[in-house]
Amino acid sequence: MRGLTVIGLGFVEPRFLAEVSVETECVTGKSLLERDRQRVWHPYAPMPAANDPIVVTSARGVRLTLSDGSEVIDGMSSWWAAIHGYRHPVLDEAVRGQLGDMAHVMFGGVTHHPAVELAETLVDIAPGGLEHVFLADSGSVSVEVAIKMALQFARGVGRPARRRLLTVRGGYHGDTLGCMSVCDPVNGMHSMFTGMLPEQLFAPVPSPGFAEQFDGSHIAEFAGLLAAHTDEIAAVIIEPVVQGAGGMRFYSPDYLRAVRRLCDEHEVPLIADEIATGFGRSGELFGCDHAGVSPDIMCVGKALTGGYLTMAAVLCTPEISQGVNAAESGALMHGPTYMGNPLAAAVSLASIKLLLSRDWRSEVRRIESELAAGLAPAASLRGVRDVRVLGAIGVVEMERPIRVARTQAALIERGVWLRPFGRLLYTMPPYVSSLSDIRTIASAMVDATRQH
Ligand SMILES: *Cc1c(COP(=O)(O)O)cnc(C)c1O
Repeated sequence: MRGLTVIGLGFVEPRFLAEVSVETECVTGKSLLERDRQRVWHPYAPMPAANDPIVVTSARGVRLTLSDGSEVIDGMSSWWAAIHGYRHPVLDEAVRGQLGDMAHVMFGGVTHHPAVELAETLVDIAPGGLEHVFLADSGSVSVEVAIKMALQFARGVGRPARRRLLTVRGGYHGDTLGCMSVCDPVNGMHSMFTGMLPEQLFAPVPSPGFAEQFDGSHIAEFAGLLAAHTDEIAAVIIEPVVQGAGGMRFYSPDYLRAVRRLCDEHEVPLIADEIATGFGRSGELFGCDHAGVSPDIMCVGKALTGGYLTMAAVLCTPEISQGVNAAESGALMHGPTYMGNPLAAAVSLASIKLLLSRDWRSEVRRIESELAAGLAPAASLRGVRDVRVLGAIGVVEMERPIRVARTQAALIERGVWLRPFGRLLYTMPPYVSSLSDIRTIASAMVDATRQH
């Protein structure tokens, strides 16, 4: 209850607010961690969480400051998002500037400068043909919107029986129910949600690896499923070239090219989920750019706002929009409350401009070669199955599940924050990381692997 009075104060000087919150802590006599344990649910965690979270008091550049005053390098970029690091003056200023105009206004029947300019900028940099933009409030929501677009498109073009999606195993597309239905069925624990998830079609994990030789056999099962179920398939959805949270795998751009060709052959729209890969992470601006293909629908999120606020976008071709319009509703049936949020749009715009103004390609390439060199010693360690690097993504895949708490403690001791999952210890550092930061991350990963 005590904390609520802070909200009731309305406009207070920051100095006073600080006093209030200090007092709150004194009155309850509990540490922040104890209060967190009592009240706060964390991602993919039981309640209370099995392991204490770290307490971050501030962040600047690539470093998080912890409550004991120590600093760690954020090798996660806050889940792929903070590509320019924290408290970047340009991004801070974009938010502050927009705050002076308005923080938010509804988007139904309303428009504003940041949203329009962001949509134009996204169209400019996206693969060709994507001309229309739907702004959504998170990656998962954008995937839901993409799926709804595909379903409404199918009805609009007179193919209402096309109500399923074809995807690949090992994928990750978000945590809401529609997204979950296209996530890897095993990783995504589909069995726990039987009856709630639409049953989609799954081809094997894409292969071969990024730089390996592709041939027709690699796409045969995918092609077979698409041919056998064409009349049921509203769209194909796939993460281009990099499968992220579903297993951190890099596959051949030729595979993606073959997917594009097959979708064309069968007149099935292709949805590219670029939420993790977008904005340079894999070495090209978008994963699709490795293959030189354009999807019919594309989702971006995560690094879109430079890690400042939650926003995502769905881009599509005019053909998709026309098909959606032709369905019985005459409109796309989606409209989140915070759609097009001006603060998020303004900072997204600033983040994209900042990215394009930097030599991001060289920065990512430098990170790539430094990670490759730094992680190489892990390849010969006991218990390591594979070490792989693509763009600013470095992965050590173990034979067995990682003991997360222990590994994280070892990493923090070496000044590095990472969040391993399953058998994967991986990093996707901010592009502004110095080479010595990257070396620190890589050597901490090798040490943690050695001790594992
Ligand atoms: C993170 C992610 C999502 C979900 O985005 P949220 O903003 O967490 O909802 C979807 N697809 C991919 C490829 C992602 O990496």
